[in-house]
Amino acid sequence: MKLGVLALQGAFIEHCNILKTVDVEPVEIRKRDHFSDNLDGLIIPGGESTTISKLLGDLELLSPITDAVLCGMPVFGTCAGLILLAKKVEGIGAGTIPVLDVLVRRNGYGRQLGSFSKSAHFEGIGEVPMVFIRAPYILEAHGSAEILAKVDGRIVAVKQNSVLATAFHPELTENTEIHKFFIQMI
Ligand code: GLN
Repeated sequence: MKLGVLALQGAFIEHCNILKTVDVEPVEIRKRDHFSDNLDGLIIPGGESTTISKLLGDLELLSPITDAVLCGMPVFGTCAGLILLAKKVEGIGAGTIPVLDVLVRRNGYGRQLGSFSKSAHFEGIGEVPMVFIRAPYILEAHGSAEILAKVDGRIVAVKQNSVLATAFHPELTENTEIHKFFIQMI
């Protein structure tokens, strides 16, 4: 299996490293030519959603990726990736690849002091460690968006059809269960 990892900015190397440990070949997507429909899925990492959005447009990656995701390519967004995939983002309108029926609050835990780790229950897996870095959280999930995890009453993971998104960074822990969960969705 080959998974694209959007490698424009942010924590993409960590996703690639986890994929290798679970025998999946990561393909770093840095420019238009690197992205093709032959990939089995795509990971959009954490970072800065405004920067990633701008680079997606500038590098002409936005429309091919949006088309592929709308045609059912499985996609997993973490942190900034969740923001990009949200149909509604408080104060902004929508993410750049708006496919998830959720309303997201950016920097939901505050800009500076919003980084922490916590273990919490994830549907279908059990307890997993979660690292939050200036993280968003999900205020509302609608339609077929299924809530997979909550921390302190706030929604931090959802799945909708072939789209998985977490407000936290599973790639910054040793635990590979959430990546395996995504691979099983494919
Ligand atoms: N605060 C960032 C944003 O709004 C997300 C942070 C992250 O991905 N760790 O894009």
